[in-house]
Formats: sequence, structure tokens, C-alpha cells
Amino acid sequence: MPLVTSKEILQTALANHFAIGAFNANNMEQIQGIIEAAQEERSPVILQVSQGAIRYAGLEFAAAMVRTAASLVDVPVVLHLDHGYDFEQNVQCLRAGFTSLMYDGSKKSFDDNVAMTRKIVEIAHIAGIPVESELGRVAQSTDKLTHEQVCALMTDPQEAKRFVELTGADSLAVACGSVHAMQAQAAELDIARIKAIHEQIPGTPLVLHGSSGVKTDSFMAAIDFGISKINVATYLNQAFTRGMREALAKYPDEVDPRKFLTQSREYVKEAVREKIRLFRSANTIDASGGFRSPSKQYRSADIGAAE
Ligand SMILES: [Zn+2]
Repeated sequence: MPLVTSKEILQTALANHFAIGAFNANNMEQIQGIIEAAQEERSPVILQVSQGAIRYAGLEFAAAMVRTAASLVDVPVVLHLDHGYDFEQNVQCLRAGFTSLMYDGSKKSFDDNVAMTRKIVEIAHIAGIPVESELGRVAQSTDKLTHEQVCALMTDPQEAKRFVELTGADSLAVACGSVHAMQAQAAELDIARIKAIHEQIPGTPLVLHGSSGVKTDSFMAAIDFGISKINVATYLNQAFTRGMREALAKYPDEVDPRKFLTQSREYVKEAVREKIRLFRSANTIDASGGFRSPSKQYRSADIGAAE
């Protein structure tokens, strides 16, 4: 299928209480693993590239690989910019055919974040492309913050409402207890805060960054209260590298890199399948590539009660 925008699939996820995995990739094997997993699970998928991935693979190269991979499957695939830190990067991605952008002004003042987000939203919307923004700040594990410091950076629900009204952003990354690049699954999300933000902006899909370090139980509650996109990077990197290490140890005399990369690709695919099932987006796509009629397919208690 041709690429789709994140707007189309996130609104459906929000309305039906499931979340769509947004998986980071840097190379062909990771892209293939992610998209094959989505195809087998009949799930929409967001494939995202960070600025680091763009530096590594090249913007045109990354975009072309994802477009090609998407054209070979019949589930919706989005090509998303993860953490665009400036205006130029967003415009370059728009031109390269990205179907979803992100401007991360979370380190700036509220007013500066609003002004730049608004500017990017205006341009992207002319081209029909949605924009994710970030308010509050999801810290990095290397920041080595205390629990109190992580809490101080969390998104304020009232501010979130003002921010979305002022910017017209299509989705909002919220800081609610997760931390980027955590290796252990030890973080608890502030579910009451997510719920309060969702009540302020019920029509805006919320985005969870730093999911690799979040406890599984925490996800489930978060999805019920508006988290519609969940970013996964570190967990996939761990799987990729584990595959390579195991294959290198198993075939110490092998020089053909395909032997190692095949194992890495398989492990990425398994990790993505596991996350897709956990986020409840498995089996939401029918044979024609559209969403199945919701009622029976989505496992939310809310949906069950409404029937
Ligand atoms: Zn992030």
C-alpha cells in the first residue's frame, strides 16, 4: 500500500482504545522486521526515523526504504519523523515524502514551543501531513534524574489544552513518568495525569515516549486513557544486537554478514509482534487494508460495555 498519514490511523486508535506502535529503525533489516511483523499481525504500524537515523542512513535513503517496504504489504504504514528539533528538518522530511512529522520544542519555553510548533503545523497541514508535538519533557536515561526531577518535567493538563488550542498540533507527546533509552522495565506511569490530560483534550491522540522502560501493567491503563501511539526504540535495539551477538558466537568463522543480520531481523520482528499484541492493535486491519468494524475486534472493556 502507499504510505498513509498518522492522522487517519491514530484517530481510529483513540476512538477504539488501542495504541499503534511507532518503531524506530536505522537500517534495512530493522525496517523489514518491523513491517513484516505488522503484516503478519494485521496491524497498522508507524515506522519512525530519528535525526540520528537520518544522519546514519541518509534522509532520501531512509524514506525510499520505508516506502518500498510499505508498497509490499497490505496494512497501513506511516513514515514518521521522530524528534525533529528544528524547522528545517521538518520541511526537509515533508519534501522527502514523510507522512507524519514531529517537532520537539520541549526544551524551549512554552511560548517559543507554541510559536515554532504553530509554524510547522501551518506548513505541514497545507500538504495534508499531521504533526506531533511535545509538552513537558521526557528525560533521557543519561540525564540521571531523580524521581522528583522526572516528576517536575511532567506535562500539565491545563497547559496541554492551551498548547493544542494555540498550535493546532494533531497529537501530543506527554511526559508522564517514562524515560528515554531505559534498559530495564522499571518505570510506572502517572495514570491519573494521563487521564487528566485526556479529559482536557479528548480528541487529541496522546503519545508515549520512552516505552521500553515502562512496566507492562502501566501500558494497559495508559491506553485506556488516550495513549494512542507508543514509541519503541531501545527494546528493538536490544533485540537486534542480541541476534547479532548470538549469531557471531554460533558461527565464529563465518564471514557472510547475512548470517548475522538474518538473526537480528528475526529478533526485531518477534519483538515488534509482541508489542503489537500488547498494544491491542493486532487484527485490526482487514484483507482490504482498512480497519475492521470495531465492536468485536478491539478488546477494550469500554467497547464491550457500550455494545
Ligand atoms: Zn522520544
